[in-house]
Amino acid sequence: MQSTPSKVTQVYQAGASALSGVVAFYAYNVFRTWNEGVGFSWKEFTSASTVSLLFLVPLMGLVGGAGLGLAVYSSTVRPLRRWSRGCCYRCAYPLRSLPSRICPECGAEAKVPSVHSGLKRHLRALVLFPLMVILGWVLGSTSGELWILSDEMRFEQEVHEYLESGGTSGYARPRAWPNRLTSLVYVHGQGIHATE
Ligand SMILES: [Zn+2]
Repeated sequence: MQSTPSKVTQVYQAGASALSGVVAFYAYNVFRTWNEGVGFSWKEFTSASTVSLLFLVPLMGLVGGAGLGLAVYSSTVRPLRRWSRGCCYRCAYPLRSLPSRICPECGAEAKVPSVHSGLKRHLRALVLFPLMVILGWVLGSTSGELWILSDEMRFEQEVHEYLESGGTSGYARPRAWPNRLTSLVYVHGQGIHATE
């Protein structure tokens, strides 16, 4: 089997991006509905997305640290262990009984693995990691805001229908998931607002 560290790294980075997107979306939703504002405001957008970034930093520190640890393992312990077993250091193909100096499986030279170049290769592959986290943060915060705004628009529509059907006292319901603890409220004469 051919070793493909770049594919593993791609999956890892895509996973980090998706995870940071989900965390940012969730944190954004919680903090954006913390106060009683309804509708878009740059002030709310900035503060809620900043809070969601503060949530991401320790989490992504852990994920990034694990990736770094994996890169160091993949370029030091693993190839040296394979080599000491008589296998190709890159793909673990058994080379002991082969006369060739080249691994028939992946084309790597049959020699003691260079830890330095292996480490450099693995770290280079991780270079996109912070970018992917930032991308997840931007997408998570933006989609969090759009999610809240679309729920508020739905609520406006519901109020409209409520009034058309002859309702007079007022109308309220919880916000959409994951903001079920806060409510949107319509009070006759006061318009729409939100409660904590
Ligand atoms: Zn090989």
